[in-house]
Amino acid sequence: MDKKTIVMIIMDGLGDRPSRILKNKTPMEAAYTPNMDYMARNGISGMVYPVNTGLVCGSDTSHLSLLGYDPLKVYTGRGPFEAMGLNMEVNAGDIAFRANYATRDGKIIKDRRAGRIEEDTSPLSKAISMEMDGIKFSVASGVEHRAALVMHGPGLSEFITDTDPHENGKEVHRAAPLDPKGKKTAESLESYLSRSREIMDSHPINMKRVSSGKLPANELLLRGAGRAPDLEAFSKKYGMNGSYIIGIPMIRGLSRMLGMKEIKVSGITGSHNTNYEGKLSAASENVGKTDFILMNIKAPDAAAHDRDPLKKVDAMEKIDHALGHILGKEDQCLVILTGDHSTSSVSGEHTGDPVPLVFYTAGQRVISSSMFSERNCSRTGFSMDSGNVMNFGLQLVDRLEKYGA
Ligand SMILES: [Zn+2]
Repeated sequence: MDKKTIVMIIMDGLGDRPSRILKNKTPMEAAYTPNMDYMARNGISGMVYPVNTGLVCGSDTSHLSLLGYDPLKVYTGRGPFEAMGLNMEVNAGDIAFRANYATRDGKIIKDRRAGRIEEDTSPLSKAISMEMDGIKFSVASGVEHRAALVMHGPGLSEFITDTDPHENGKEVHRAAPLDPKGKKTAESLESYLSRSREIMDSHPINMKRVSSGKLPANELLLRGAGRAPDLEAFSKKYGMNGSYIIGIPMIRGLSRMLGMKEIKVSGITGSHNTNYEGKLSAASENVGKTDFILMNIKAPDAAAHDRDPLKKVDAMEKIDHALGHILGKEDQCLVILTGDHSTSSVSGEHTGDPVPLVFYTAGQRVISSSMFSERNCSRTGFSMDSGNVMNFGLQLVDRLEKYGA
């Protein structure tokens, strides 16, 4: 018999804290989620600690950990994942930055987002991609003002300061080394940036913007330098092929870096609302065709960052409805339903609280929780660190090799 497909559904920032507006319930407790509750009652339910008890994780580190890669060993910063998420070529050892197209007047940053530039900045990115001093500088555009820069060449260092002052009305910072090893990289980067300023200032896109009274995109602000890690491919690590259904660039990039293949679904790039039904029905269609599917749904985290518990409830209910596509396939797949970390819709920040977790498939033993929520899933007493989730799932579907004789 063919082995079951593992479908890992990560609701971003899932766990939460009680809020007054929800009568002291958390969004998970307040939301009407019959499908999730069904899986919690009939599956193995408990809690997962993102990476380690006591860490407040970002989405990148917690996703790595849920996939069985220890971020404390392999994580080098967000830049490389963002660049991969923009379909750039990033090789182990390359230095990648997150970037913004910004408006600069002299040395002062007038607008870090160049008026939230609405037109495609790809021609600008192409114009400022070049080779200088034996280093290849590649720029790719994301949505609106967003972009990424990748440096490729020998002897590069990631120990470089941001050039982004992180505030309007401040001077653009010089790229400076954070340790002696970064000196050459910082110097090359500075000469590249001054050349890129000349090109951007005279680029037709900016001439047109200025003549129509709009803010030009004449500075590439850099932040979050990171060295692309040398990660073992997912297929090699697990002997399974992996696919992903993900909208947000950072987690798409992370999955691409692990060599997973994209299952394309339209209308999933927004962080607030997404094509929930399209995502879950695509996952359902690929059960039996691929060994592993990773899905990230960003909306719960985005609602919590907006300190809007009601919006988070709404997102949960829409996800729950879409889960109907996958229910009924428990003979052919294992569903792992969880979040990457908790995000408090009271403070608007990530927290280190554990997150509810359910493994649901046919023919497994049951550790039942009456509801898919923080309180109910805690009561089962079943819990693990996120780094063990993959292995626990693998053994459930007889994909894990025996440890010992
Ligand atoms: Zn977040």
